[in-house]
Amino acid sequence: METAKYHRMVYTRICENLQKWDNSDFVREDELYSFLHTLKGTAGSIGLHELTSIAREKLELLNEDSNKQWTQSEWKKFLAPFIESVHFYKENDSMTQYMEHPTTIIKNPAKQDFILIIDDDVVFISYLKNVLEKKGYSVIAAHNGKRGLALIYELQPSIVFLDIMLPDSNGFSILDNIKKTKKELMFVTVISSNDCKENRIRTLEMGAMDFMAKPIDEELLIAYVSNRLAYKRELEQAIVIDELTQIYNRKFMESQMKLFIKHHQQHKEHFSIAMIDLDYFKKVNDTYGHLVGDEVLKGFASLVKELKGAEEIACRYGGEEFVILMPRTTKKEAFIFIEKLRTSMEKKTFTANGTSFHVTFSSGIAEATSTNLHPKKMLEEADQALYTAKQLGRNQTIIFDNVAAVEKRKVKIKIVVIDDVYIIRDLITNHFKHLEENDDYRIETLSFPDGISFLESNWYDPACKYIILLDWILPQMDGIEVLSKIREQHASSNVIVSMLTSRVGEEYVMKAFINGADDYIVKPFNVAEVSERIVRLIHQMFL
Ligand code: GH3
Ligand code: MG
Ligand code: MG
Repeated sequence: METAKYHRMVYTRICENLQKWDNSDFVREDELYSFLHTLKGTAGSIGLHELTSIAREKLELLNEDSNKQWTQSEWKKFLAPFIESVHFYKENDSMTQYMEHPTTIIKNPAKQDFILIIDDDVVFISYLKNVLEKKGYSVIAAHNGKRGLALIYELQPSIVFLDIMLPDSNGFSILDNIKKTKKELMFVTVISSNDCKENRIRTLEMGAMDFMAKPIDEELLIAYVSNRLAYKRELEQAIVIDELTQIYNRKFMESQMKLFIKHHQQHKEHFSIAMIDLDYFKKVNDTYGHLVGDEVLKGFASLVKELKGAEEIACRYGGEEFVILMPRTTKKEAFIFIEKLRTSMEKKTFTANGTSFHVTFSSGIAEATSTNLHPKKMLEEADQALYTAKQLGRNQTIIFDNVAAVEKRKVKIKIVVIDDVYIIRDLITNHFKHLEENDDYRIETLSFPDGISFLESNWYDPACKYIILLDWILPQMDGIEVLSKIREQHASSNVIVSMLTSRVGEEYVMKAFINGADDYIVKPFNVAEVSERIVRLIHQMFL
């Protein structure tokens, strides 16, 4: 069933291309080349080996950069095997609707590995995504390099599959950008239809882990992914220093905390921790770029190293969050130290392309007492105090106080369904009403019959995270326009948009991505599956 779906996508695309060319007098040779090149890579991966080999033969007769104009009769003769195969396919395929297999809902998936695909070929993306998702991996795709890089920062994927023929930049320059920044352990695998020695060598020289040639073999891919993830696990066991900031990582922090807590119990010594989160850090990234963001993180870490004493241990908790462990320190002493750090930080000047700026942080402090003797509990208390610091306006330090315990910090997530079909709005909103509230987040659902009423509804609340399921064909204003309007205001990852569409063609999916969609769901869909996908996205993007 699945394969049938991809076959249909490929044939639909060929068909659309042929029709488009049918309407013009000439086709340029480089267009023919690019069409066959993509086809060669994708068709083989989904079992259409015949098409791949014809495409390969034909490609040898073309020049990639040629502007030569081919007349209708010339290109039709040249592409005759493809035209025939499309006719054959149309006659034999009943074009019956496929239904996805229902799956059970994962209520609380553990924070798992993420696989990112950066490729401009949407059919290939869908194929790879499907193969990997069937095996239980979480996959997200970017159709160009810029979005790919942003997602690397957002998601910290374990494996990145990178196509080296991308529309906005050559894959190699993206590889270079990825490598410029020292990130968490991440394997980059270059995928390409150009399986030549030169590309393989360059891939390895530029620090990618592997090179894979299209067409991709499904079994090999699965074995590869599982091998690399196991290797990653092994390596992680040995690492205690965060690569970017060169201070301790979270794993080391947790083991140290256990020791300090034990010490506190046995010797009645004070022990305090501070959780620190940089303020409006997304804005730093959005304004100056991620590389400058990285510099800020490094700058903050070196400031901590400079100011702290020999006993304090500074750790990167994740992203732009840090934890400082302070043995033999009361919460009041901890407050004094963190305030000193905070005032130094707010004075520190960062520069990017000639302009200078400042970054502040908020912090929450917790001290070991008889009731919180577990790393998780102490971190929770510090995090609650940090939350209060943020709510009170940021750039400040708050000590956790049992008496004034604040409400637990829960992520508020709104799921918005915009569809003119009542039954779809109803199905999805009802489904999420039944998804019980849990410790980490609270879900609220909203629905709108059209885009205009949604846009005019004053829907955005910066304290919430959004997942918007947006129908393509809507009365008055179509989904793509609604999407662009959403993206004009909210480019950030607080707002995730998934298009609901019955249009399977590559051009449509591409259009959705270009206009800022993060995902697309093909109709008819299965509610359980959509829900599973949403819960996964929530865990990966928002928690
Ligand atoms: P707030 O004041 O509420 O903390 O606002 P914020 O913008 O800092 O919000 P939030 O903590 O949710 O955002 C953290 C951002 O940090 C999200 C992500 O893009 C970015 N980020 C995470 N890790 C890295 C990294 O290693 N490098 C860079 N440059 N950015 C990162
Ligand atoms: Mg944060
Ligand atoms: Mg922050």
